[in-house]
Parts: sequence; structure tokens; C-alpha cells
Amino acid sequence: MRVVMKEIEVSTTQRLELIDITRNIEKIVENSGISKGLVHVFVPHATAAIIANENEAGLLEDYINLIKEIFKPGGPWKHNRIDDNAHAHLAAGLIGASRSFPIVNGRLVRGTWQNIFLLELDGPRSRRKVVVTIIGE
Ligand code: ZN
Repeated sequence: MRVVMKEIEVSTTQRLELIDITRNIEKIVENSGISKGLVHVFVPHATAAIIANENEAGLLEDYINLIKEIFKPGGPWKHNRIDDNAHAHLAAGLIGASRSFPIVNGRLVRGTWQNIFLLELDGPRSRRKVVVTIIGE
């Protein structure tokens, strides 16, 4: 079994934003030399998350609106007394900092309508890291 780790950096331009990182992750898998295993995609941040879904403009806006509706930026959260980003911590914690995908025949397996996104919840940030760990043979 082998383990390959890579890190990529993404910059974001909005407070809430979805950045498609599918090609970056697929390239890392293709160059890893691992043909069968798993790829784990992780953001080492308390105010960002990883999701997999369709890259369709309307749906991306729906996600942002849903997050605003549920997690209420600027809402009466206690964390907003010290740092105006409680919504970002709450959403990141519940949505999750990572997703994993199978690797078969050297390629990342995903549905046609499953792109991989970094979800920015407290941007803009010049450097968001994504840690990619590939385990397999
Ligand atoms: Zn905070």
C-alpha cells in the first residue's frame, strides 16, 4: 500500500462561495500512480468545507442561499460577540471538512453531476489550503 499527499491552495473572492476543485483533485489522482484506493480531500480550516455536487449556476446560488437561511450570518450567535463569523464555524462543522472518493483504474470515481467544491464560508481569503491524501496500490 502506498500513500501520496499533496496540498493545493485556493483563493476566494466572496464571503460565501463555492470553488470547483474537481480538476485539481483528479490531476493529483492521475499523477499519483495509484490505480486502486481512496482519495481524501480535506480543508484544514474551521470556516470552510468540502462538498460534492453539480456545478450548475442556479444550484450553487441555492446552496449559498440555503446556508444563509440556516446559519444566519450576523445572527444572534454568541461567537459573534468576539468574531463576526459564527455562521461560518457552524456551517463548516456541520457540513464537514472532508470528503472521500474511490479510485478505480487510476481515476477518481464520481457521478457525472458530482463535482468537488471548496465551500468558502468566511471569505474572501487569499490562501485556503486543501490537503489531498491518496491511499492505495
Ligand atoms: Zn470565529
